[in-house]
Amino acid sequence: MDDIPANNFLQTIIAEDLAAGRVTTVVTRFPPEPNGFLHIGHAKSISVNFGLAQANGGHCNLRFDDTNPEKETPAFIEAIEEDVRWLGYQWHGEVRFASSYFQQLYDWAVHLVEQGDAYVCDLTPDQAREYRGTLTAPGRNSPFRDRSVEENLDLLARMKAGEFADGSRVLRAKIDMSSPNMNMRDPILYRIRKVAHHQTGNDWVIYPTYDFAHGQEDAIEGVTHSICTLEFEDHRPLYDWFLDHLPVPARPRQYEFGRLNPSYTITSKRKLKQLVDEGVVAGWDDPRMPTISGMRRRGYTPAAIRRFCDMIGTTRSDGVVDVAMLEFAIREDLNENAVRAMCVLNPLKVVLTDYPADKVERLSAARHPNREDLGERDLPFTREIYIDADDFREEANKKYKRLVLGKRVRLRNAYVIEADEVVKDDSGEIIEVRAHTIPDTLGENPADGIKPKGVIHWVSVSEGRPAEVRLYERLFNHEAPDKGDNAFMDHINPQSLSVVSRAWIEPALADAEPEQQFQFEREGYFVADRYDHRTDKPVFNRTIGLRDTWTDS
Ligand code: ATP
Ligand code: MG
Repeated sequence: MDDIPANNFLQTIIAEDLAAGRVTTVVTRFPPEPNGFLHIGHAKSISVNFGLAQANGGHCNLRFDDTNPEKETPAFIEAIEEDVRWLGYQWHGEVRFASSYFQQLYDWAVHLVEQGDAYVCDLTPDQAREYRGTLTAPGRNSPFRDRSVEENLDLLARMKAGEFADGSRVLRAKIDMSSPNMNMRDPILYRIRKVAHHQTGNDWVIYPTYDFAHGQEDAIEGVTHSICTLEFEDHRPLYDWFLDHLPVPARPRQYEFGRLNPSYTITSKRKLKQLVDEGVVAGWDDPRMPTISGMRRRGYTPAAIRRFCDMIGTTRSDGVVDVAMLEFAIREDLNENAVRAMCVLNPLKVVLTDYPADKVERLSAARHPNREDLGERDLPFTREIYIDADDFREEANKKYKRLVLGKRVRLRNAYVIEADEVVKDDSGEIIEVRAHTIPDTLGENPADGIKPKGVIHWVSVSEGRPAEVRLYERLFNHEAPDKGDNAFMDHINPQSLSVVSRAWIEPALADAEPEQQFQFEREGYFVADRYDHRTDKPVFNRTIGLRDTWTDS
C-alpha cells in the first residue's frame, strides 16, 4: 500500500530491529475495545499498525480488548470489523479476543501469587485511593499486603468461584507503593464483576484489567511491536514488569505515538456516545460524526482517509491537526475520481420560449473532464429547465457572471441562452424566467460574437427528477470543542445539517448506486445515501464543498 513517510519514527525502529536480527517477522495488532464505533483517531491507529506490518512484510492482528463486558456489545464488534475492512485492511487469521486468553491470564495470576508477587486486597475503593498516595506523596502498603501465599491462593480461587460481592476484593501486584510512577503502586490485576460476558457468558465473575491483559496477550500472539498512544507511556514499566515476572512465550515491546486530534472534532468515544444518546446526531454513523462509519456515510473514501493518515505522519507529540487537511485529502480524491453530474438545489424555472414544447434533445456530457475512461452520460434538454435561483438576477454588476435580464449565460454542457423577462407571483417573488436559446451554440460561441459571461448548471424540468439532498457541515463551530473548560455540547454548529427536500437532479443520477460519489457541478461533492437512496426516491448527502470556504466565511 502507500509508502510509509520518513517522519514515521516507528518505521525507523522496526527497520533497525529487522536489520539487527532482533525481529524476523514484524507482528503488530490493533486492539479496539468494543464499547463504541471506531473514529478518525482509530483510523490513524489502524493505518499505523496495519501499514507498518504491510510495509515490512509482517502481519497485523485484530484483537478485541474485551475486558469490560458491561459496556461492550456484539453490535460494536461487527461494526468495528466492517470498518477495518472498509478502510482496506485485512487482519491476520481469525479475529482475536482478550477473552479467549482469560484462562491463561488467570493461570498467570496464580503464578504471580505463588511467587509472592500478587495478593488479594480487601480495601474499599475509597480506602485504596487513600493508600495510593498522590503524585507528590508516596502511597502506603495495604494492610493485606503480607497475606500468606496460601491465603491469597484460597481467596483468589474463591473470588473466581463467585463467593464474594462485586468490588469487595481485588487481586493486586506487589510492586512498590512508593514508586513515583502511580501505575507501579500495586496495580489491580483482577476485579470482581458478576456480569455476563458477550463471548464467555457466565464463565467468569472476575475480569482482568487492561494492564494485566495487554502485554501478556501480545506475548501469546507473538506481537513484536505493540504500538499504542502516548497516554500509555507511563504504563510501559508495568507492561515490562509483568513480562519480566511471568513465563511468557515471547517478549513484545510497547511503543507510543501521539494521538490524532483533528481540529473541530471530538475523538473520545464517551463524548461521541453522549452525542448519540442525547439525540444531537441520528446515530454513531450519522454523516456528521467523526466515526469511520459516519465518514463513510458522508461520502469520505477509504483512500482519502488513509492518505490523510499518511500525510500527518506519526510523531511522539500530541498536537492538533487541522481538519482542513482531512478535507483536502477528500477533495483531492473525489476531484480525481467522482463523476460529474448536475443537481439544482434551489430550483427556479426557465422557459426557453423559442424551443419546441414537446422536443427532447439527447445531449451528452463527459462524466469527468479529464477521465475519458469514465465515458459519457445522457443529458436530455427541453424547453423548460430549472436553474438555481442564486444564478439569476434581474440586474447585476459586472462581477456577477451568471444569468441577468437581457444578458447571456452558457448552460453547462448545452446552449447559450439570453434572459428576456421575469414572471412574479403576487408577493413579487420571481417564479419563472423567460429566455431564448442562441442558435448553434452547442460547444460553440455565438456567431454574433456576444460571448456569455459565465456557465451555470441546469436540469430539465420534465426529464429530471426530484431528490432529497442533505447538506452537511462541520458538527462543531469551535476549533477545540472539548478542550479545557469547553463544554462541547455548547459548540454544536446549528447549521450542521440542512435538508433540501426537493432538489432537481439530472435523470442519470436516480440510477446511482448507494454510496456512489459525484461532483455536483458548481456545488460540491455528494454521495448517494448508503441506506436511504432509492431510484424512486433519490437521497444524496453533501460530502464536502468544492473549496475550503470555512476559513473565509
Ligand atoms: P477513546 O478515548 O475514544 O475511548 P480508546 O483509546 O479508549 O479511545 P480503544 O478502543 O481502546 O479506544 O483504542 C484502540 C486503539 O486505538 C488503541 O491502541 C488506541 O491507542 C488507539 N486510538 C484511540 N484513539 C486514538 C487517537 N485519537 N489517535 C490515535 N490512536 C488512537
Ligand atoms: Mg482504550
